[in-house]
This record gives sequence, C-alpha cells and structure tokens, in this order.
Amino acid sequence: MKKYILTLDEGTTSARAIIFDKSATPISTTQYEFTQIYPQPSFVEHDPLEIYTRQYTALTEAVIKAEIDPKEIAAIGITNQRETTVVWNKITGEPVYNAIVWQCRRTTEFCEALKKAGYDEYISKTTGLKIDAYFSATKIHWILNNVEGAKEKALKGELLFGTIDTWLLWKLSGGKIHATDYTNAARTMLFDIHKLCWDKKLLELFGIPESMLPEVFPSGNNFGNVSVLGEEIPVCSIAGDQQSALFGQGCFKSGEIKNTYGTGCFLLMNTGEEAFDSKNGLLSTLACTLSGEKPQYALEGSVFVGGAVIQWLRDELGLIKSAPESEKFATSIEDNKGVYIVPAFAGLGAPYWDMRARGTICGLTRGSGKKEIIRSALEAIAYQSADLLSAMKADTGIDLKSLKADGGASKNRFLMQFQADIADIEVACPASPEATALGAAFLAGLTVGFFKDRSAIKELLSGGERYFSQIDASKRDKLLSGWQKAVKAAQIFNSQE
Ligand code: ADP
Repeated sequence: MKKYILTLDEGTTSARAIIFDKSATPISTTQYEFTQIYPQPSFVEHDPLEIYTRQYTALTEAVIKAEIDPKEIAAIGITNQRETTVVWNKITGEPVYNAIVWQCRRTTEFCEALKKAGYDEYISKTTGLKIDAYFSATKIHWILNNVEGAKEKALKGELLFGTIDTWLLWKLSGGKIHATDYTNAARTMLFDIHKLCWDKKLLELFGIPESMLPEVFPSGNNFGNVSVLGEEIPVCSIAGDQQSALFGQGCFKSGEIKNTYGTGCFLLMNTGEEAFDSKNGLLSTLACTLSGEKPQYALEGSVFVGGAVIQWLRDELGLIKSAPESEKFATSIEDNKGVYIVPAFAGLGAPYWDMRARGTICGLTRGSGKKEIIRSALEAIAYQSADLLSAMKADTGIDLKSLKADGGASKNRFLMQFQADIADIEVACPASPEATALGAAFLAGLTVGFFKDRSAIKELLSGGERYFSQIDASKRDKLLSGWQKAVKAAQIFNSQE
C-alpha cells in the first residue's frame, strides 16, 4: 500500500517537492522560487513565512500532480540549505526577523574579533568548523542583539531558533515539533560533533539560551507526524543539502567522496567513525546516519568559484552564449596551450586560504584566444577540486579511488574527463541528477523499511557515466605544475598590493 516517499528539497533560491517511487524514480516534481532580499551590500535574507508557504504549496501540488492518495506516502524526508538562521516567537509563531542566509556576511567583523580573542582552536576542536560568518551562531547572536526586545524574550524562553529544516518541521507540525538532525546542527558552530550535544561554553560565548535550541537526532529518524491533505504522515529524515547529497550518491563508507559542481563546488568525503582534525583547512562535520547507528563523519571542502567562472565567461566576457556551449570550444583544441585561469575572484579557499588572492590569467601568447580561455576556465574547476582531493588524501591517508559527481556543471563531459585525468581518479556521474533529494528520500525510506538496506540502495544507484584518466603521469605532473605557478601568480597579484 505504501508506494512513495515525499521529499522536500528546500534550497537557497527555491522550494521543491519530489515524490519518489520504490525504484527511486521521481514521479512528480514541483518547484517554487522565493524572494532573495538584499537589505545592504553583502547582507542576504529570506522571508521565513514565504519559504514555508512556497514549500507547502510545492508539497501539496506534488501530491495532486502525481494523482496519488496521500495514504500511499510511506514517509516524508527534508533536505535544506544549511546554516540559514530563523528565530521566531513560539507563542505567536511569528519570526522576529527575516531568515539570515548562509551567504550573508554581516557578522564578519564579529568573527574577526572572535579569532583575535583566540577562540579558533576551541571552536575547531569542538565543532569541526573554522570561525566564519557562514555558520548560524553569529547570526543568532546578531538577531538577539539587534532586534528590539529579542534578547529579553529569548531569556524568558519565548523564542525558538532553527535552521530551515527545523522551521519547516515546526510549521508543518502546527508548532508541536522543535527538532533538527546532526548534519544541520553540525553547521551552527554551537554543536559538539564528538559528544553530540549543544556546547554550553559556546552557548555562553554567543549569549544563546539553551531553551531556544531544537532537539537533535540522527538524520534518519521518526521526527513525528505532519498532516498532508488530511493524512498524517511521519517525517522520517532531515539532512543538510551537502550531507544529503553524499548519502544520495551512495557514499556510505569511509573514503567514498562526492563533488557537487554548482555555482561553487562542494566536496564531501565520508571518513567513517573518525572525525579528522584537518591540517589543510578542511572542515569536519557529521554525516548522515540512521537512528541507532554509530555517528559517522565527513571532511568538507569547497571551491568558491566553480560553475560561476563559466557564468563569468558568458555574462562578463561574452565568450559563450550558454554554459553548455563551453564544452564545444574546450574540445575543439588539443590542450590548454599553456594558458591557465585562476578564478580567485573572492580569494582562494582550502588548501590555500588566501583571501587576498585575486583572479589571474597566465601563459598568454599571441596565438591564445577564446578557445584557450574557455578551456582553461573549465580546467580551473577541475584543478581547484583536485587541490581539495589532495588535501583530503593528506589529512586522512585514505587512498581515493572514485569520485561521485553531481550538480549543473557535471553535465559537461569535457570537465568530467579532465577531472578524471588531473586527479587520476574515476569520476562517476549517477543516472539521476537528484542526488540531494534522493539522500533525504533514502534516509526516510530506510527508517520506515520502504527501502531494505544500503546495498539495495546501491543497486538502485547503478548506471550512469564513468570517466577514467587517459593521460600519463608525466603529462599530469606538467599540467599540475603549470597550475601551481598560476596559483602563485594569483597570490602575488593580491588585493592589497
Ligand atoms: P546551483 O545549485 O549552485 O545554483 P547548479 O547545480 O544548477 O548550481 O549549476 C549551475 C552552475 O553550473 C552554473 O554556474 C553554470 O555556469 C554551470 N553549468 C551548468 N551547465 C554547465 C555545462 N554544461 N558546462 C559547464 N558549466 C555548466
């Protein structure tokens, strides 16, 4: 009788709902965009009530469009943009301020002050994170200290905090359930990823009363029922988008790794029961597990400018009309002819962590033209990802054999082949592009027995394209040494000299 899993995929720009059947095939998908609010340069907000309305419309329409009986839905899974912070009044249900989005930089100065005061080590040891405005802690602090009356109400126990998963669950359950999962909690900069609890010292540092915080569970867990078109359905998973994609790509074991090639790139590597303390500027975080299982960890690294460099070729340089066109130009020449682009538009992340570095094009000759620039831009996405893979290898000593790829730019076959060549790794693109939503669907399905076990899921994920390195070690070394020189040039031409 139970034939489907309903997944809510709440992203940074839109709220989607997808219904999957037993073979993990989407039978109905709906999507609603919501407003991006920019009150000041580098400030980014969302309206939490708009997100809830859009998500609710998406979910009911997905059920109606699929022409199924809600009774046939075994469970609901939620995956969401991480870190984005909502604080609301638990009596009225009204947010006290807009959601402060992960991208928002308003707390950068506060973060600098925390670093100066020497909190780096404690925060990194406890939460696995580097102090940064991305994470929820300083955003909650900002709301409590800048919204009139918020601090007093919080101290009286009248306010609640949640990332978007928590907010949606609270709304969908009519204010009955205030909960989150390990993967979202791990991105707040308040959660002890080793002891699996909110850290009292950090709550004190940020002036956050514990009464505001949700209860934390493994990602695959029965969180309680919500009503969908008159039917009570259990929410059986919650997972932050990147960890959900790691699970949705079937990376269940230590050493398994995925890269999402979107605007930026997000690499996550499952490190099993061990949380690594990175020496190369990577973050440690909790990965998805099911209720009753031992916690699992992941190493995470991101490329700030991934697919965005292709948008730049299109919108700023006008070299291509569309992103997919880049492939045709890149494959029309044999190699990069010594041209390298380092798209350090906003500095360089791991393993360099040089925020002053700026974008550079190196190795130009009179014969260099549009094709070389386009090709080297695509190659730059692969080089940056390869740098992260090397950092992961160095941190863990684990030999990486296969990289699972997803995201918009993973459709580019040239990029995927070059990634396999330059990192000397198998690159596997799954048959389904829905890795993020599938992760939440698998977690919910495993929790209610809709899917049997992880090996049954691995079978559902078979198929898709695979790429293997086609270059020899000396060619790879030559290319990598060119890239390293180009990175140095980007660091020399920095923003302060
Ligand atoms: P996000 O979720 O970050 O919005 P998507 O996964 O939708 O991103 O991917 C969009 C990004 O991928 C854009 O930056 C775009 O330039 C890039 N992209 C999309 N298709 C291609 C392609 N065929 N080749 C290269 N880049 C692409």
